[in-house]
Amino acid sequence: MNDKFMLAALAHSRKALPKCLPNPPVGCVIVHSGEIVALGYTHSPGNHHAEADALTYIQGQDLPFLQMYVTLEPCSFQGRTPSCALAIAKDPRIQEIYVSIVDPDPRNQGKGLDILKAAGKIVHVGLCAEEVNHFLEKYLLKSLKP
Ligand SMILES: [Zn+2]
Repeated sequence: MNDKFMLAALAHSRKALPKCLPNPPVGCVIVHSGEIVALGYTHSPGNHHAEADALTYIQGQDLPFLQMYVTLEPCSFQGRTPSCALAIAKDPRIQEIYVSIVDPDPRNQGKGLDILKAAGKIVHVGLCAEEVNHFLEKYLLKSLKP
């Protein structure tokens, strides 16, 4: 566990604005042996979410035991882009995931975490939650529009 990696993900997430909207501006870092090997943020709708963006930087690389730090719970559902939780679940290199806050979006609300756990990943929730929530809260979808 390391605050500095989550804070790096939070700092990087600011790059997502304003193009990511209406999706929340999320940041993600991937760590190997204590070093950041990839950084990602949420791109415009229909393009990579933060997790998928970070994964592009390590495509094809043989890196065992990676940790991922992501400011928001990875999406469990297929929207305009494939589910990030499923993409992480399918990547055997990512073994441990730190999620700062659970996504209140009714389509997620822990389902992304369940996918990761079911795939055998070690999942931690709540790292730097106060700092992340302070920035991210106003962008989160809390109920579906009728
Ligand atoms: Zn996603």
